[in-house]
Amino acid sequence: MASTPFIIVAIDGGAASGKSSSSRTLSERFDLLHVDTGSYYRALTAELLRLGLKPDNLPAILAALPGLQFGTRLNGRSAEMEIGGRVAGEEIRSREVNDQVSHFAAIPELRAALLAYQRGLAGVAREHHYRGLVMEGRDIGSVIFPQADLRFFLFADAGERERRRAGQGLQDQIRERDRIDSSRKTSPLTCPPGAIAIDTTHASLDQVVEQMAAAIAAKLGAS
Ligand code: C5P
Repeated sequence: MASTPFIIVAIDGGAASGKSSSSRTLSERFDLLHVDTGSYYRALTAELLRLGLKPDNLPAILAALPGLQFGTRLNGRSAEMEIGGRVAGEEIRSREVNDQVSHFAAIPELRAALLAYQRGLAGVAREHHYRGLVMEGRDIGSVIFPQADLRFFLFADAGERERRRAGQGLQDQIRERDRIDSSRKTSPLTCPPGAIAIDTTHASLDQVVEQMAAAIAAKLGAS
């Protein structure tokens, strides 16, 4: 019997572009481990803020990073990141974290601290017999897994994305975060060449998922 190929699906895009909903649905449909790397940057931000550090205090951040132990806890199909044995809670969606996360995420050493950890999750998915991995973020198809089997880039009109966040009852500086994320020197938010770009402004979640699922199914069929 031919063994089923292990697939890596990368999904990038700005805030509220549809990444989380679509990647969760695809993880169910194709039996993939789901990884939301935005929650990792948020958890790290919350931890550094808890230690009293601000993004402009680079020496103190560099001193703190090596002491942070990353681990993984599986929750359903999601790989949650532990810092010092603890998975962060709702504080990662706080106003303060929303305001600060892009500033921390622009620090190259902080990104480097997460890089190997994120790549290692493909091994976790294999160990737990998932058919593959779906990872969402800003630099997954460009930096973390440039050789991913499928790379998607979701985008949508900023006004529509603000409405989505407001509909979730969340206050978020979407435009400001996107500006910082797109203009940073290290691993900026960008549509990598060769990625499948999908405009989700006027599309329902179902329509977006169907388009992505068709591309994944075609890839699986071809392999
Ligand atoms: O996806 P989410 O909006 O929760 O991400 C929060 C922030 O984390 C982003 O605005 C960005 O600054 C950072 N991030 C990143 N690279 C990733 C994922 C998130 O820089 N791969």
